[in-house]
Amino acid sequence: MSEAEVLYKIQAIDLGVEETERTLQDTTSKLGETDELIEARKQLRDVEERLLNTHKALREAEDELEDLAAKIKPLEIKLYGGQVKNPKELSALEKDVEIYKKKKGKVEDQTLDLMAEIEELQDRVQATRAETRAVEAAWQREQDELKQEKERLETRLADLRGERGSLAATVSPNSLQTYEGLRRTRRGRGIARVEQNTCQGCRVALPMNEVQRARNSRELAFCGSCGRIIWVGR
Ligand SMILES: [Zn+2]
Repeated sequence: MSEAEVLYKIQAIDLGVEETERTLQDTTSKLGETDELIEARKQLRDVEERLLNTHKALREAEDELEDLAAKIKPLEIKLYGGQVKNPKELSALEKDVEIYKKKKGKVEDQTLDLMAEIEELQDRVQATRAETRAVEAAWQREQDELKQEKERLETRLADLRGERGSLAATVSPNSLQTYEGLRRTRRGRGIARVEQNTCQGCRVALPMNEVQRARNSRELAFCGSCGRIIWVGR
């Protein structure tokens, strides 16, 4: 193999390395929790918290009902027990009982509303939990695939670098340096193939004698137009 041919192979590897690195970066950036997963978990937490708070509100309402019942009972005993004869005092007692009963009625209504809300929230928690589990399962599958892909790409990179190292050892350091320098200044391509007497790097036709010389010489030859090393493909 001529040096130009080896350099052409090295370039193919370098381009492959770059592309694989880009894909690897893209794959790595997708690892970790997704917005969809975070949002699904948040929604579940929110609805679970609402259920908890509603349970708490119900317990408080039930405590209040007990308190009210405990207040009404002795007042009614007094009112209907016959010990109190004074009409003014009786009327005041009656008023108190009435106020407490009205309050109790309100709290009873609240209790019913809270119980209905709890039932609805329990359904929602169940549905949201199922949805979240589905999102988590899909996410986990995707993560597993991404991890496999990452490993595959890392192996590929290591293979390519190994291959490049073996090839690079067969060309002179000077030629390699020339190639690398051109690659930096010519959009990643320091060497171009010549096909039908045309440089594939810049699409300019080369004089026949230059193509001949490039084919036969052991020295590196360059495109007069774009300055890249040229390899006259076999
Ligand atoms: Zn050219």
